[in-house]
Amino acid sequence: MRLTKFTDLSLRAVMRLAVAGSADALTTREVAEVMDVPYTHMAKAISRLQHLGVVHTRRGRGGGLELTALGRQASVGWLVRQLEGDEEVVACEGDPPCPLRAACRLRGALREAQRAFYAELDRITVADLVASPTGPALVGLGARRTG
Ligand code: SF4
Repeated sequence: MRLTKFTDLSLRAVMRLAVAGSADALTTREVAEVMDVPYTHMAKAISRLQHLGVVHTRRGRGGGLELTALGRQASVGWLVRQLEGDEEVVACEGDPPCPLRAACRLRGALREAQRAFYAELDRITVADLVASPTGPALVGLGARRTG
């Protein structure tokens, strides 16, 4: 199973914002730069994260993007489900649909594997993701940008 690039860079943004202090809120462009992704791709990801209630924009002096309480407490499994949708990992109902789809043990096994994949990610929160060594590494990326 492979995550879409969109999900991956959305998670990169969430992790970077999770280590930002209130005094160094970043803009979308800055998050794109430190995470090394094109601005337009990051803007789409941030927009989706805002729509999910995971990120919001603090206005005014020193404003910028920040994680909401939901964003900090969210499980990675929940986030990935929201970003990936609930598609099966194989397109049994595609065009044309697979002739085996009504009686396929492989399809059942893949569904079970997908459930196990998400169950594992459900145990991890965004806060867990930015524990050492990831958190300090993320802060270091920001320091190189401004240094
Ligand atoms: S063989 Fe089974 S898993 Fe593969 S597309 Fe057909 S129904 Fe789906």
